[in-house]
Amino acid sequence: MKVVVVGAGYAGTLAANRLAKKVKSAEITVINPRPDFVERVRLHQQLAGTATVATPLASMLRDGITSRVGTVDKIGDGSVTLDDGTGVDFDYAFLAVGSTVQPMPGTVPVGTWEGAEPARVALAALPAGSTVTVIGGGSTGIETAAEVAEARPDLRVRIVGASVARDFSHRAYQRVRSGLERLKVDIVDDGVTEVADGVMHLRSGAAFASDLTLWAIVSGVPDLAARSGLQVDTEGRALVDEYLRSVDDERIFVVGDCAAVPGARFACALAAPQAAHAANTLARLIEGRRPEPYSLRYVARAVTLGRKDAVGQFTRLDDSLRRTCFTGRTAAVVKELASRGGKYAARTGTGG
Ligand SMILES: Cc1cc2nc3c(=O)[nH]c(=O)nc-3n(C[C@H](O)[C@H](O)[C@H](O)COP(=O)(O)OP(=O)(O)OC[C@H]3O[C@@H](n4cnc5c(N)ncnc54)[C@H](O)[C@@H]3O)c2cc1C
Repeated sequence: MKVVVVGAGYAGTLAANRLAKKVKSAEITVINPRPDFVERVRLHQQLAGTATVATPLASMLRDGITSRVGTVDKIGDGSVTLDDGTGVDFDYAFLAVGSTVQPMPGTVPVGTWEGAEPARVALAALPAGSTVTVIGGGSTGIETAAEVAEARPDLRVRIVGASVARDFSHRAYQRVRSGLERLKVDIVDDGVTEVADGVMHLRSGAAFASDLTLWAIVSGVPDLAARSGLQVDTEGRALVDEYLRSVDDERIFVVGDCAAVPGARFACALAAPQAAHAANTLARLIEGRRPEPYSLRYVARAVTLGRKDAVGQFTRLDDSLRRTCFTGRTAAVVKELASRGGKYAARTGTGG
């Protein structure tokens, strides 16, 4: 039985390893644009120089799994076509191409490997006293601004977002903002209309000079599913049934950020359980057992504020916010363990 996994992030790597463990007869090919697994949840650290996030894929995949460097241009009719024109046939496929960024002109994106690397180089070249502006008031923006401010106290760091940290309960919101202020990050609650010639223009009419402007908003997904004729939602995520299979083709499982699971947001914390569930489902189907529907569950969300501080926010199963949060060094340790856990789960095919 031939299985193709498209994308070797958290979801694709975990699915491949779990399936290899459960279905010994599966011939698994993983296709990824680079020969490395990228710990995407640490890209803000990569750019600030506090971590390296790329690990050779060969050391992340179980023996017997084939990996190919390439980008898939089309999926369907039991095969994928790569950008070099070659094809790979499959009996089953896992579509796990993640999410992407759509940066405003004049900014450098943070949320992908291709963006974080130029951002790291540009940041390292900035002389003391320069201004860095981070656009995005969600978790990626907060983590990026804090990481840069802590690693480069010689720079002036500003975060701009419609309402910075609004995705937290009141107590956590206040704690995130006081943590940013402790790191001397200027918080600007405003929308950005344009960045041109090193000047950022805001909705309120204000304008700031910025030596490096980082785009820290993750939005949209690669258009592979849509281009291949699979049904997608308004964000381009492939529509799936209750077993995480494309509604158009039962041979294609869709997992991680690119899957239109109702209620799901872009999160490693969801990509891993989805991949584990889909691999289990395929194993059950092969054994002639009934698959079980996937059910989405949230527990918490957390943001780091540099290496020594963080805010963790408990949520209900449906992601609505609880009032309780945990903060400080304990939260930073918990978040670090969660980040390590994501990579460990992918490498071992465990979790979910
Ligand atoms: C700075 C930052 C911090 C984050 N922190 C957290 C956090 O604390 N908690 C949390 O839950 N989430 C966090 N996230 C979100 C998390 O990183 C993503 O939700 C997660 O990476 C999704 O996993 P995935 O496997 O679906 O996609 P990805 O990890 O993005 O992997 C997708 C892979 O597919 C590849 N690919 C794309 N197109 C193709 C193609 N056409 N052919 C072949 N391969 C392709 C990509 O190059 C990539 O290797 C963070 C994100 C960022 C940017």
